[in-house]
Amino acid sequence: MTTIIDGKAFSANLRGEIARKVGLLKQNHGVTPGLAVVLVGEDPASQVYVRSKGKQTQEAGMNSYEHKFADDISQEELLALIDQLNEDPDVHGILVQLPLPGHIDEKSVINSVSVDKDVDGFNLANVGRLAIGAEGIVPCTPLGSMMMLKDHLGDLSGMKAIVVGRSNIVGKPMAALLLQESCTVTIAHSRTRDLPGECRQADILIAAVGRPEMIKGDWIKPGATVIDVGINRIENKDGSTRLVGDVEFSSAAKVVGAITPVPGGVGPMTIACLLHNTLQQACRLNGIEVPE
Ligand code: NAP
Repeated sequence: MTTIIDGKAFSANLRGEIARKVGLLKQNHGVTPGLAVVLVGEDPASQVYVRSKGKQTQEAGMNSYEHKFADDISQEELLALIDQLNEDPDVHGILVQLPLPGHIDEKSVINSVSVDKDVDGFNLANVGRLAIGAEGIVPCTPLGSMMMLKDHLGDLSGMKAIVVGRSNIVGKPMAALLLQESCTVTIAHSRTRDLPGECRQADILIAAVGRPEMIKGDWIKPGATVIDVGINRIENKDGSTRLVGDVEFSSAAKVVGAITPVPGGVGPMTIACLLHNTLQQACRLNGIEVPE
């Protein structure tokens, strides 16, 4: 029996829980979490993400602040805005939509966000905290993947996990989270020798590569749990397009114990975890426990 891990339902449930807790926070402490999203330029995909983030933030009962700029904004102007948001007591989370235009140094911008408002978890201080297992802010996509894994498997201790991909936003933080759960973790990348052989040993396989359907069913250990982070748009024979993951779903589904589909798996969890992080930071910044 193969379980399809339904990220759409899981994320709807999580967003419902967050909205309930936001209601309690407002009622008992008069605090409304606020998320500021900064968008530079006209990239259509980024505009869609930002719209969707704003909508879901408001649906969760939080305040959404959008700051949109033309792509000729200077780095100094952008850094000045972030300073202002860092100081604003109504803002508990700041997200700078990436990518930024070439004349702006992304690292400087990301690291200028206050460590306590860095709800993406990309700031060096939060990266360091995750690496040593200290309390901090965990990047949204790995956090959402881990929530689904633990919900499905329970205790992960002692399991062999492989993360295919070593990016700073997905692969590395995912590996750190798996290590925290006492998995034995392999991180694979484009120079890994015998990737299929490495994958076949894993009880948990995380695919974060960005290559459509690269991981085939016969690379996967029978019964393994597979989290497919990849989102790739490919063309059908008739010229229309569709989204696929980094795992070939048709062959994998015959072998795995459980798998996240694309779309409808990890994708919807990312914004839900952004709201989770914003609620958590609104509480931390006000010295309040997150409502139960
Ligand atoms: P990335 O920064 O491009 O990193 C890709 C990683 O895959 C790199 O570490 C690269 O290795 C490795 N890789 C590339 N080709 C490989 C191969 N043939 N064999 C083994 N490893 C290979 O990508 P990313 O930002 O982590 O994103 C990965 C995927 O997740 C993309 O499809 C992206 O769209 C998706 N994504 C989804 C969400 C979501 O919300 N669901 C969020 C973020 C990303 P090297 O380091 O050696 O180059």
